[in-house]
Amino acid sequence: VVKQRSRADYQLYAKEMEKNTNELLLIETALRRAVEHDELVLYYQPQIDLASGEIVSYEALLRWKHPELGIVSPAKFIPIAEESGLIIPIGEWVIEEVCKQLWNWNEAGVSETVVAINLSAKQFQQPHLVDMIESLFNTYSITPSQIEFEITEGALQNAEEALVMIQRLKNLGVMISVDDFGTGFSSLMYLKQFPIDSLKIDQSFIKDVLNDKKDEAIVTTILHLAHHLDLSVVAEGIETLEQLEFLSRMNCQKGQGYLFSRPVHPEVLNRENQKS
Ligand code: C2E
Ligand code: MG
Ligand code: MG
Ligand code: MG
Repeated sequence: VVKQRSRADYQLYAKEMEKNTNELLLIETALRRAVEHDELVLYYQPQIDLASGEIVSYEALLRWKHPELGIVSPAKFIPIAEESGLIIPIGEWVIEEVCKQLWNWNEAGVSETVVAINLSAKQFQQPHLVDMIESLFNTYSITPSQIEFEITEGALQNAEEALVMIQRLKNLGVMISVDDFGTGFSSLMYLKQFPIDSLKIDQSFIKDVLNDKKDEAIVTTILHLAHHLDLSVVAEGIETLEQLEFLSRMNCQKGQGYLFSRPVHPEVLNRENQKS
């Protein structure tokens, strides 16, 4: 009986695997065409100065509008894009799209808008990256201080190469922040050595910051550390007023979350700018 069941289990498992592999292949094939078929869209989520309540910047977040699947979450397709190497053309599309948007906003007189762009580890390791960015800045007359690049701790693992890359980016004049801070292979060494501008506290620590003593300790410690190292901090995933009050009391500079706004299509922001 045991044998039979394990064989049945195995067959089920194999079927499941096959299904997953097929799904992955389907997504990969579809993703390949997404760029050319204009299925990718960038949404923008405001980042708020907690003391003044003003929007100080936006994070660009990728959305894939598949004709049949509907909106596919980046959490689902970014890993596949990384695995298949498609992240390189997709990542380049993202940077160009942000530059175009900034050019439009600059033209419309919505000046000095700052946009944060996520860079995947693979993109960050591309030697060609900095030249590509520089040429896009030239094409769209972008002031480099209008751009911030968000990198995760995973991208910093090869410290020597990462340091060279960060320095080249900083020489362009952009800002660098560490995304999902505290969830990767954190090493305090890079905070000492790398010219980083800000830390983004991962939303998993913010979620229960009011009820969980450990989350509270981690968040306050990150804030102290950042203040002492003269780094700016963004708290991610603020959903309630209580979380906002706690973070303000702890002198967290910036925040981002559904309490303020979900990521929105740029048209929504254009309409709001016209209103005010
Ligand atoms: P991330 O960079 O850490 O982005 C923050 C994520 O948290 C976004 O999910 C955002 O929609 C979500 N979020 C914001 N406020 C709240 C909140 O109050 N509550 C909750 N529960 N979630 C909130 P999203 O847009 O699904 O993106 C997921 C991840 O996909 C991003 O995490 C980033 O790692 C990656 N990603 C998105 N766009 C790009 C891109 O253009 N390039 C690369 N390489 N990665 C991207
Ligand atoms: Mg991010
Ligand atoms: Mg994050
Ligand atoms: Mg994340």
